[in-house]
Formats: sequence, C-alpha cells, structure tokens
Amino acid sequence: MNNTLTYARTQDQADPLRAYRDQFYFPQHDGKDVLYFCGNSLGLQPKGVEQALLHELEHWRTHAVEGHFRGEMPWMYYHKFLAEQTANVVGANPEEVVVMNTLTTNLHLMMVSFYRPIKERYKIIMEAGAFPSDQYAVETQVRYHGFDPDTAIVEVAPREGEENLRTEDILRVIEETGASTALVLFGGVNYYTGQFFDLAAITEAGHRAGAYVGFDLAHAAGNLPLKLHDWGPDFAVWCSYKYLNSGPGGPSGAFVHKRHAHNPDLPRFAGWWGHDEEHRFLMKKGFHPMRGAAGWQLSNAQIFSFAAHKASLDLFAQAGMPALREKSLRLTAYLEFILDELNQAGHHYHLLTPRDPDQRGCQLSILTDSHGRELFDYLSQHGVMCDWREPNVIRLAPVPMYTSFEDVWQLGQLLGNNSF
Ligand SMILES: *Cc1c(COP(=O)(O)O)cnc(C)c1O
Repeated sequence: MNNTLTYARTQDQADPLRAYRDQFYFPQHDGKDVLYFCGNSLGLQPKGVEQALLHELEHWRTHAVEGHFRGEMPWMYYHKFLAEQTANVVGANPEEVVVMNTLTTNLHLMMVSFYRPIKERYKIIMEAGAFPSDQYAVETQVRYHGFDPDTAIVEVAPREGEENLRTEDILRVIEETGASTALVLFGGVNYYTGQFFDLAAITEAGHRAGAYVGFDLAHAAGNLPLKLHDWGPDFAVWCSYKYLNSGPGGPSGAFVHKRHAHNPDLPRFAGWWGHDEEHRFLMKKGFHPMRGAAGWQLSNAQIFSFAAHKASLDLFAQAGMPALREKSLRLTAYLEFILDELNQAGHHYHLLTPRDPDQRGCQLSILTDSHGRELFDYLSQHGVMCDWREPNVIRLAPVPMYTSFEDVWQLGQLLGNNSF
C-alpha cells in the first residue's frame, strides 16, 4: 500500500464495484462531492429511490384502494417482495425474515417472545456500552416483568486497560451466569468501537446455557456478510437507514430462526398482518400466526419507506455481500494504513476498533487527544462528513458501496495537514 494519489486511483480503477458510486447522491461542498464517512449513521440516497417513490405515488393516485391488489407489486403483499433480498443480506431463508416497523419496536416485539423471565432464570447478558435505545429497551423489559435491572442485567465489559471485548470473556460470563440466563442479547457490531462479535460462538454458548439468543444488527446488516440461519440465534433485528441506505427512519428487519417458524404457542404481541393471510380478511376472532417471521407483523406495510428500502436492496442484490466485503476489507485496511503512517509522523489517532479484520466491519473509530473536537470541526469545514461521539471519538466508515480509495486518501491528507 502507498499513501499516494496515484496508488488510490489505481485501486479505484481496478475496483469491480466502482460503478455503484454513481448510483448515489453525494452532498456538495465547495462544488465537489463531500468525503462521506457517515454511512454507519445514515447511508447516502440511492438515485433509484426517487423513481420508486414516484411509482408508488402514481399507483396510489391511479388506483386508490385497489392499489392493494394491482400492479407488479400490490401493496397487500409488499413485505414479500423484500424477503428474498433481505434474507441474502443477513444470511437467512426468506421465511426467516420480515421487514416491518422500526428497530427498537422490533427489539421489544422479539423480547416479548424471547425474554420470558421466571424466578430462577431471568438474567439478560449483553455487552457493556450497548447503544442507548437497546439499553432502555432491556431495562424497561426487565422492569415490566417485575425484576430489578441491577441484578437482572449482566454486562460484559472489556478488561482493565483494554477497549474491546474478548470472546473468551463473553463466553465465560455466559457460562458462569449459566442457568439463571434467560436471554443473551448482543449487538453485531458495537456502534462505538466498531468491534464485530463472534456471533456463532455467542449463540452456541447462550444455547448451551439454556437461554435464548438475539442480536441487534443495526451496525452489521449491509456492513458484513452474516449467516444468521447457520449461526442459529433465535432472533435478530436491524435497521435499514445505516448501511442499507433506505433513508431516514427507514424500516427495520427482523429474523426469527426457522426452529420457531411453526410454533403458534410462542407468546407474542399480534396484529392483523401477522395473522394467517388466507383468513386475514374474514375478520374473525382467534389469532393464527403466519408461518415464519411474517407471523410477527402487526400492521400493513408502510409502502413509501418500503419502496425506498427496495430500491436500495436492489443494489445490494446486484453487488452481492461477498464482493462488498472483499472491497471493504481492502478499503478499511487502507484507511488503517494511512492512520498508522500519520501516527508515525507524530499525530495521535488512536484506533479503538480491533486491528483484526475478522473483528470489525468497515468502520474505524479513532480516539483523539484533547483537540478532538477542533479536529472534527476542521474536517467538517473541509468537506468531510463523519461523526463525533462524546467524549472524544471520531467514527469513520468507508462504505464499500460508494466510497473510493481516493476519498480515503483525501481524508488522510486532511488528517495529516492539520495542526491538532
Ligand atoms: C441505530 C441504532 C438504533 C436506533 O433505533 P431506532 O429504533 O431505529 O431509532 C438502535 N440500536 C442500535 C444498536 C443502533 O445502532
């Protein structure tokens, strides 16, 4: 690797995914595309979204209520048109996934089914420093069932002087908590450090302890190839507006493993859209869930946000997660290489994210020194969009779908040219 413009451009020319960049709108800064490193927070807008939305507006204008049954993608079945592509993104069977609601809502719905504490088995094991919404969901679920969050929530933290979790520590806590564990709930990629956890090993340990296992994949879906079916967690949830580029407030996805597909006795909070579709419109008493994850739906689909999501999923289906990951490994390694070079030249960009590529997606989190906020403002003023997390972390996500090696090189130039 070389920290030169020529090297970066050569990499871009050889990049089989380079055409995807043109499928996205970049905000402008001084008449040029910004250097966008914030796809972990909100993905860029795919150009196809506008057409997809206009199409549904037109469908509504022309057919009104009959739009539910007409056209290539009748609204009535809309969630089904997303199932296969979604399944491919997270490594599941189409029957195991459904797009519905928003992320925190789905986390609660899944916990209704898979967190059912009893006196002897009531604990939830999770990573320390999980995303706040997840912390609040877990805390209030625990209280809802009449337990005390202080004793029911077991957080696994990094060792003294370390920044990331060791898999062996996660597995040890699960084993030690043992039969009192009701649920193991982990993020896929931690939003702050960027660490990607060993989800297969966590699932295995959780099940060995007799607990259910669930994952929040907000920062993993669309970022790394996942194998939910094979890894075997009971459930997973994610959002679509981060790496999946579906727009602000975009819909969430949920996974329920096949082993629960035909279990109508699993308690759940139901709505008519989860009811057996053959009989949905008979409007009869008595809930009979659809097979698979679809049986957790509450409401009819939010067509406009689903349409935007579909436009984005089409790009993932074309590019494919393996090719995206392949580029991602090289792109993130390039950013890491440049940061290391700058540090040798006297800068202080301390990497919080694991150096092992198997333990991270595309995001690198850097811990800055006391001038971090000034550095962040400097970057913003020079056309970089990245994000700042208190107290002094800058998160940089070179997203393989639309970030170029040249973007990374230019970011490196700015990081090297400042005096902070
Ligand atoms: C982004 C994110 C959320 C946000 O939840 P919404 O319900 O979509 O607002 C929740 N959890 C995690 C882990 C996230 O990364």
